[in-house]
Amino acid sequence: MISRLLIANRGEIALRIIRACNELGIESVVVYSKADADAPYLALADEAICIGPGPSALSYLSIPSIISAAEIANVDAVHPGYGFLSENAHFAEVCRANNIEFVGPDEETIRNVGDKAAAKRAAQAVGIAVVEGSDGPVESESQALEVAHKVGYPVLIKAVSGGGGRGMRIAHNDISLQASIHTARAEAEIAFGDPSVYVEKYLEDPRHIEVQILADRKGDCIYLSDRDCSVQRRHQKVIEEGPSPGVSAADRAKMGRASVKLAKSVGYHGAGTVEFLFDGKKFYFIEVNARIQVEHPVTELITGIDLVKEQIRIASGEPLGRKQQQVRPKGHAIECRINAEDPDNGFAPSPGLITKYIAPGGPGVRVDSHVCAGYRVPPTYDSMIGKLLVWAETRDEALVRMRRALDEYVVEGIKTNVPLHRRILRNAYFQRGEYTTSFLDELLSA
Ligand code: ADP
Repeated sequence: MISRLLIANRGEIALRIIRACNELGIESVVVYSKADADAPYLALADEAICIGPGPSALSYLSIPSIISAAEIANVDAVHPGYGFLSENAHFAEVCRANNIEFVGPDEETIRNVGDKAAAKRAAQAVGIAVVEGSDGPVESESQALEVAHKVGYPVLIKAVSGGGGRGMRIAHNDISLQASIHTARAEAEIAFGDPSVYVEKYLEDPRHIEVQILADRKGDCIYLSDRDCSVQRRHQKVIEEGPSPGVSAADRAKMGRASVKLAKSVGYHGAGTVEFLFDGKKFYFIEVNARIQVEHPVTELITGIDLVKEQIRIASGEPLGRKQQQVRPKGHAIECRINAEDPDNGFAPSPGLITKYIAPGGPGVRVDSHVCAGYRVPPTYDSMIGKLLVWAETRDEALVRMRRALDEYVVEGIKTNVPLHRRILRNAYFQRGEYTTSFLDELLSA
């Protein structure tokens, strides 16, 4: 078993991993940048090591700084969390070369599924439908036009190494495709260090449905129900819930089985997510996320399985310890991402000092957050300051509970998107579960 683990991340997910270590009796070492030096969660770890200045490139993305910290702290494993280095195959490789276990799949698998075009091919190889498009990256205008004429407009240009809802452009005709292909390649190079892009059919009104999987090193793999992440602003998730109100039990099982098949075919181990677009009839694979995700607690609440502890157990070489039939999802969970941003001012980031903070509580409420009154949200990182989750026996009860919890939430000193969540939770379409990926952008432009 891993006995001392370094957390190569910050904020709520660093705290989440510290909590898992504390329950497993594992010593935790958390790294931090100078911008996070005052974060209260640092005191909950056994050790905290400063790895550099605020900018991520000099701290949370600096492989030499993190590996030095891991060696000084004498850890036997590194948990990368999400974002930052979590899907960086080179980082996983360097960890293992230094005899430090990387909590995640091996570098080859990360590389294979991290390349979105390669992941689509792997899905096709095991008989999973993918969104129609180019067979791998496209290099020229003429190649892109050929694909667009075959699948029909609108099409989406996507960065092979993209992520976080960035690196995507929609083209409605030849002229916009010709213009976008070059800009998309240049943008992808700057944002992800890889100019490769691919082209696929843009589905007009799908739901984003994803399947949580867990796989051990022996090749056993199970799926843990689904999450509906269709409430998005500019392709970024805002609310997630599980199980999806728009997917039948039969389709859910089909997606689950397909996900397991894909994971096994690429030799996956650890926790992962297989993402699909669902048009109400058919589901189409889009990508694999080879890491823990922001919205993992939705699945924890409906299955009772602690995914972060499972990740650490799997990295220690332990078997799954449960069969597919033993996974019995129960009830309904909803997650609202709480961001320090101003919904009345174009969602501009709103960093600064939190002067008053009262988190909701009571039955069925979970708040995963590292902030409190007196905490200063640094301007340096992602604006998410926490996640509010509720669980209840039924979706209707979960909706009531989430409205109640949002009404209790007080954050002063900075702006947050809590008022937006209150609005969504009171929307009749959302309440009926009738929404797709265009729901929120339409609500906001109405
Ligand atoms: P990222 O890795 O950046 O999150 P994804 O491939 O997971 O990118 O896509 C993010 C979101 O973008 C999806 O949830 C969906 O809303 C939208 N999207 C991606 N591909 C398509 C597509 N072919 N048609 C319509 N929407 C898409």
